[in-house]
Amino acid sequence: MSTAQQFDPAAVPFGTVFAPRMAVAWYADGAWSSPEMRDTGALELHPGAHVLHYASTCFEGLKAFRWRDGNVHTFRLDRHVARMQKSAELLCLPVPEASTLERMVVELAAECAGEIPELPGALYLRPTLIGTEVNIGAAGSATAEACLYVLASPVGDYFRGGLRPLRVLIEDQHPRTTPEFGMAKTGGNYAAALRHVIRARADHDADTVLFCPGGDVQETGASNFLLLNDTEVLTKALDPSFLHGVTRDSILTLARDLGYAVAERDFTVDELLEWSRTGEAALSGTAAVLAGVGTFVHRDHLHVVGSGNVGRNTLRLRKALTDVQSGRTPDPYGWLRRVE
Ligand SMILES: *Cc1c(COP(=O)(O)O)cnc(C)c1O
Repeated sequence: MSTAQQFDPAAVPFGTVFAPRMAVAWYADGAWSSPEMRDTGALELHPGAHVLHYASTCFEGLKAFRWRDGNVHTFRLDRHVARMQKSAELLCLPVPEASTLERMVVELAAECAGEIPELPGALYLRPTLIGTEVNIGAAGSATAEACLYVLASPVGDYFRGGLRPLRVLIEDQHPRTTPEFGMAKTGGNYAAALRHVIRARADHDADTVLFCPGGDVQETGASNFLLLNDTEVLTKALDPSFLHGVTRDSILTLARDLGYAVAERDFTVDELLEWSRTGEAALSGTAAVLAGVGTFVHRDHLHVVGSGNVGRNTLRLRKALTDVQSGRTPDPYGWLRRVE
């Protein structure tokens, strides 16, 4: 009996259940060990490990889906691997070979096939890279040793309550991170944003925070941000200040195919609030897919987005993406990779 049959993804919080196996590789003396598959469990780390003091770490998050026919497919693995290499480079961590990391992910997904919940559930895969050199005097040097591992977690919906409209606090004073580092998928960025997210939840009952330093609409704590209406999709143009989401890119591609005019440019909080009176707003990410915003909180004022429900264009684009992921519609861009 596999856990997939017993597992009700709606009943457990996202990311709290792990598959029994994980993939691990170690870096030392300038080379990576061959990856091995082992039982999920503790890693032995010296308390002086570089990551524990100087935050030399980055990660990825992608999904594998088990189709009705039983076959398992990863979604846009190549893009996630390339982004992990970019994050590693920005953090001065040893950059894993793309082929090695891809193989670790694919072999783990294959090994965990029996753990993947039924659609729309998925196996969330979490490659993680940490600096393990034992040297608390190495604040100013790159770690000479590292560990790369991939965890797998059966998941359902990211936001409790599924497709309900979200309540989002607009933070227009404090940035999420630095203008140079937003594009790195690294724990430090989450640590920097955390107190704002916690305060938004406590003071405003918000699900998350949209960071708009100086009025420049960037992204939320863990998702990209899009404005939509019946004819257009608007999102910030790529720059190093925010994470270049694979879901963002996928939604924009599908939107163009469906005839929407897609604009990638900077825009302000004023423009966002004006748009929201009649249009839609949504968050995109591997975990959240495309989640509609129902209400913005801005300087203690509430702004209802459109009707206050998840908008029809948000639902349409969300469905276009999940249809490709689950094999219900063709995959013209080769985003899916079948796991043998
Ligand atoms: C991971 C992440 C996203 C979403 O990226 P996807 O590739 O779509 O999953 C957006 N913003 C931040 C800050 C993230 O960490």
